[in-house]
Amino acid sequence: MDKLISGIHHVTALAGEPQQNLNFYTGILGLRMVKKTVNFDAPEVYHFYYGDEHGKPGSIMTFFPYEGIQKGRHGKGMLNVTTFSVPSSSLLYWEERLKKFNVDFTPAQDRFDGEAAIYFQDPDGLGLELVFNDSDSRPGFTYGAIPLEHSIKGFYSVEIWQEGYERTAGLLTEVLDHQLIEEKGNRFRFAATNAPGNYIDILCTPDSRRGLGGGGTVHHLAFCTANKKSQMEVREKISEGGYNPTPVLDRQYFESIYFREPGGVLFEVATAGPGFAIDEEQEHLGESLKLPSQYESKRNLIEKAVKPVQLNPTKFK
Ligand code: ZN
Repeated sequence: MDKLISGIHHVTALAGEPQQNLNFYTGILGLRMVKKTVNFDAPEVYHFYYGDEHGKPGSIMTFFPYEGIQKGRHGKGMLNVTTFSVPSSSLLYWEERLKKFNVDFTPAQDRFDGEAAIYFQDPDGLGLELVFNDSDSRPGFTYGAIPLEHSIKGFYSVEIWQEGYERTAGLLTEVLDHQLIEEKGNRFRFAATNAPGNYIDILCTPDSRRGLGGGGTVHHLAFCTANKKSQMEVREKISEGGYNPTPVLDRQYFESIYFREPGGVLFEVATAGPGFAIDEEQEHLGESLKLPSQYESKRNLIEKAVKPVQLNPTKFK
């Protein structure tokens, strides 16, 4: 039987000042802004989507930027590190690039075989890494500010901290089609598809404090399912597993269900399509404010409520 879950769809986090967030992800990291819209549950707040050229599942990092948001705290029961994938040969390039833009980072550390990681934070304190590896066959893309051979290919992995890993591991393996593929020390790696972009690392950190939601923390992790039919099937399995998934919600670019995993992280299962080219041309993704039909009549009010932002990634050469 085909798997109902293929891997990671997107990661959504909370940020502060919108322009600062946009400059960091499109400018310094060189991701593409693939959609500028609003939070469908709070339309006075932006929802920014960054990703590869097309915003393919496994590359999509999204933010709700709230100016003046209270900072959260990394800790147990939270997804604390989102890791992007770059080639092994790009280590020096990225160390120099982060230095140039005054982003502090840790020295490269070997993790599992064939991967070295450096850790840094975005301007709101969100935990990020680059993993230097040669196992990622995705092509990468560039706007011109970052040479193609050094560009981010998408996610590599995410890192969730838990008191113990067993309950979340049980959910991943029994309900969400994942397998344990590697472990070392307190790190347990799961994947539905064994390839960069899909690794879920659970770290047992019983001595850490509990995380607190707020600026610089992840709001939820979304897994990818092929279509509405597979989404209904996985929803059924989630319910049978004793969890409480929401009804299917239309997110315009995909359809979603949400539920809380036993360690406290909010999980989503999102459909692979229809994707970001549904309401603007592929060449112009992210350039104008897109609203779902239910908010189009309030466009004037919404445009006044959100602060204008400039997309100028090539300024960050
Ligand atoms: Zn989401």
